[in-house]
Amino acid sequence: MSKYDIIVLGSGPGGYVTAIRASQLGFKTAIVEKESLGGVCLNWGCIPTKALLKSAEVFDYLKHAEDYGLSLEKADKDFSKVIKRSRDVAGGMSKGVQFLMKKNKIDVIEGFGKLKSGKKIAVTDKNDKTKEYQADNIIVATGARSRELPNLKQDGKKVIGYREAMTLEKQPKSMIVVGSGAIGVEFAHFYNAMGTEVTVVEFLPNVVPLEDEEISKQFERSMKKAGIKVMTNSSVESVDTSGKTVKAKVKTKKGEETLEADVVLSAVGIKTNIENIGLEDLKIKTDKDKIVVDDFYKTNVDGIYAIGDVVHGPALAHVASAEGILCVEKIKGMDVEPLDYGNIPGCTYATPEIASVGMTEKQAKEAGYELKVGKFPFSASGKAKAAGKSEGFVKVIFDAKYGEWLGCHMIGAGVTDMIAEAVLGRKLETTGHEVLKAVHPHPTMSEAVMEAVAAAYDEVIHI
Ligand SMILES: Cc1cc2nc3c(=O)[nH]c(=O)nc-3n(C[C@H](O)[C@H](O)[C@H](O)COP(=O)(O)OP(=O)(O)OC[C@H]3O[C@@H](n4cnc5c(N)ncnc54)[C@H](O)[C@@H]3O)c2cc1C
Repeated sequence: MSKYDIIVLGSGPGGYVTAIRASQLGFKTAIVEKESLGGVCLNWGCIPTKALLKSAEVFDYLKHAEDYGLSLEKADKDFSKVIKRSRDVAGGMSKGVQFLMKKNKIDVIEGFGKLKSGKKIAVTDKNDKTKEYQADNIIVATGARSRELPNLKQDGKKVIGYREAMTLEKQPKSMIVVGSGAIGVEFAHFYNAMGTEVTVVEFLPNVVPLEDEEISKQFERSMKKAGIKVMTNSSVESVDTSGKTVKAKVKTKKGEETLEADVVLSAVGIKTNIENIGLEDLKIKTDKDKIVVDDFYKTNVDGIYAIGDVVHGPALAHVASAEGILCVEKIKGMDVEPLDYGNIPGCTYATPEIASVGMTEKQAKEAGYELKVGKFPFSASGKAKAAGKSEGFVKVIFDAKYGEWLGCHMIGAGVTDMIAEAVLGRKLETTGHEVLKAVHPHPTMSEAVMEAVAAAYDEVIHI
């Protein structure tokens, strides 16, 4: 039986990053994967959706060429080529992980892995052949899949999840998106930009409900302006797929309404892949669909760890990677600190983009802080105006007493690349005045961060 220092089960951004760090630290490492290297993120999540959204953005530029003094006979699209480009980008990324595994001398074991007692993993390959492997430490990173609601069963054709949504052969004329979290609204924006008639149904009062309320409101306005129908405080009660189209019964505050569309996309969250991987046999504790771990991702069973979407915390690629790195560094005996879950950025890549970190204004008030809040609109930014993208704003929240940067919330073009400034600033316990004294380049969208901070301290220049 092959023996390793570390075996990682699952090769998403949690698993493959963990394996690389383990190898860097001198551990003999193997990774087990039943599908494609790179997991959901590279194959079915972060990357292929961004490729689709890039096509949507370029298409939008083409449609508005005249706004930039350019002309074009007719902006058109080939839906199947848009899908193919996204699949090619994903395929290329997965190959990149293959290269990284080789470069870092990590053994890739193909097949479905199941934990066994004695720190073993049984891996069953495509031909139904099972082989056992042993390791001093096993790290579970099996990730998650689309969550199914009992009244919204996915048939993969008329009621679909995210995998089908990014591989449809034919563009639907109309689509109902259930759920307005990042996944739901990213697809809503992609299909709307491609010309599909899109309705988003959200159970809560605000779209992108985890965001600061002002961001949610601005985003809802942008969605409506783009032509997306938005129904908040509404829930899909049932779907009828017996006809040519899908009929969805939607409960709203005003009563019941029936919507009709070619397809319904269910984007109501995720379900972890924790079944049939041997957790019960080993008596590994789970709670509310997640594996229970300590601050360094150790389960209740010695030598077994879990990271990424299968554990509590935000289900995001960068979180999975950070957890995996920390987990193996701790196994190595390094002097590491637990991850600060209060300083994790979250991004939504629709048009406009959303990026945020830290507390919302409401959360900061509820926590008892006295606040200094500053806002700077992109309509006052030279770079945004030049780009023809002046929608949105940056909002910063500081503690009035000690100047702690409590939260930063942005909506606008390119803000997902700007949020790292706030993450780093908060990590280094930067005060507002220090941000102001850090000269930002002109003209850039990032000046809006400096100006928003200036607005919080009544020193704003450009509004
Ligand atoms: C449409 C969509 C868009 C997203 N966009 C973003 C984004 O922009 N930014 C962001 O940060 N996050 C995004 N996410 C979330 C992100 O993809 C996940 O948080 C991330 O992939 C979790 O990483 P992971 O390593 O925990 O698991 P996963 O990426 O789910 O990987 C788990 C891997 O384990 C394998 N596996 C499972 N069970 C077994 C087994 N028993 N044996 C062998 N292999 C197994 C699976 O095949 C899979 O490859 C998105 C998700 C979706 C669905």
